[in-house]
Amino acid sequence: MDARRRPGKTGPLWPGDDGSLGIYVHVPYCASLCGYCDFHRTVSPGGVPAGYEDRVLLEARLHHRDSVREVDTIYFGGGTPSLLPVRRLAALLDGLRRLFRVADGAETTLEANPETVTSASIDGWQQAGVNRLSLGVQSFQPGVLELLQRRATAGQALEAVVAAARAGFERLSVDLMAGVPGQSLKGLEEDLRRASDLPVDHISVYALDLHPGTPLAQRAERGEVLLPGDDLCARMLDRTHEVLTREGWGHYEISNFARRGGECRHNLKYWRGGEYVGLGPSSWSRIRGRLLGNPRDDVAWTKALEAGLPPWETEIVLTPERLLEDRLIFGLRLAEGVPLAEVQGLFAGTEYRLAHLLGRLSDQGLAELHGDRLRLTPKGFLVSTTVIAELLSVRPGEAAQGGGEGFPGVPSGKPGAVSSVRGNGPVRAPKGSRS
Ligand code: SF4
Repeated sequence: MDARRRPGKTGPLWPGDDGSLGIYVHVPYCASLCGYCDFHRTVSPGGVPAGYEDRVLLEARLHHRDSVREVDTIYFGGGTPSLLPVRRLAALLDGLRRLFRVADGAETTLEANPETVTSASIDGWQQAGVNRLSLGVQSFQPGVLELLQRRATAGQALEAVVAAARAGFERLSVDLMAGVPGQSLKGLEEDLRRASDLPVDHISVYALDLHPGTPLAQRAERGEVLLPGDDLCARMLDRTHEVLTREGWGHYEISNFARRGGECRHNLKYWRGGEYVGLGPSSWSRIRGRLLGNPRDDVAWTKALEAGLPPWETEIVLTPERLLEDRLIFGLRLAEGVPLAEVQGLFAGTEYRLAHLLGRLSDQGLAELHGDRLRLTPKGFLVSTTVIAELLSVRPGEAAQGGGEGFPGVPSGKPGAVSSVRGNGPVRAPKGSRS
């Protein structure tokens, strides 16, 4: 494959790139902090600081000449982007439409916390052009919500979904969490059934991954809360797949389920290797063969923009090998998997070792060849990080590992065993923020 940029070409440049562009806007402000949160965010009781949207547009101007691609997805993530007053959100969207060629009907998603959803905000979001809401519900169990320090009650979450659906939102997603201290398998099943019965077309289920330094991690260290063990966590994720697929949901990505056509097109760009511009502190862009990373520092981001400088502090040129690696790492998160032919370039000279490993993963029920595509099975989703690390370890130049045991992340003597479900497969979907 010739993965070099062809001068003058604006269509697809890489495998998995469909020639379109996504825009991610990070709004890193929250009314209060949830105990488990490790995203880039700041408590801002007064809401989103004045002028934030103007700074986002300053950054957008740095990118708009860089791509003449049609923008078919815009995603506001956070933080709590639904704290941005609708008038300012509308101005920001108008500004983006002036700078980029935004397609009519582009998927435009707003992450919203249920307590911020009112009939007035729903109306304003619709008028601004938001056509998809992603609601951070996390659970319908009061005890779980309290432990996570969420602001919204289960009742508010249900009301928010119903109000948005009644107002005409056809694209609605809810986030749930599994593996929370004190959460039972039965409680999770109730959450899943409740979410499944709602008028939504997308459900995300993330395993709680405790990050050092967060209040919940500190409570766990002090022994005040007990995390469910790996076995229970694995059973929860397994049951999630069972319950939702039985209810007709497609398990299209490790942590994501959709009704037909309800897949998040914006997030698919990350997993398929598309191009996107990320705006705001901590955001990442993947554009014209480069990854650009903004600082996780609002002051540094603001200062750079006000000085007329690009705010990104990291720039990585995507070599052909890196592109293929990303294709494998992100593509295998999807049920559709990756075309084997596209990644074979990574394994030139080690085809025998690759075939041997694929045979073993297939025997273990973790991966399979489906037509001309390589994909993980639902069981493989649970240990995706381990499986992908094993695959990458058989590339040329990587030390031979003897085929079955001793691969990174695999406990000796238990090839392919679940070393830890947390932080393995079902962690947060990649955001433009990669926060
Ligand atoms: S989980 Fe969401 S709402 Fe809670 S502090 Fe983090 S970004 Fe804010």
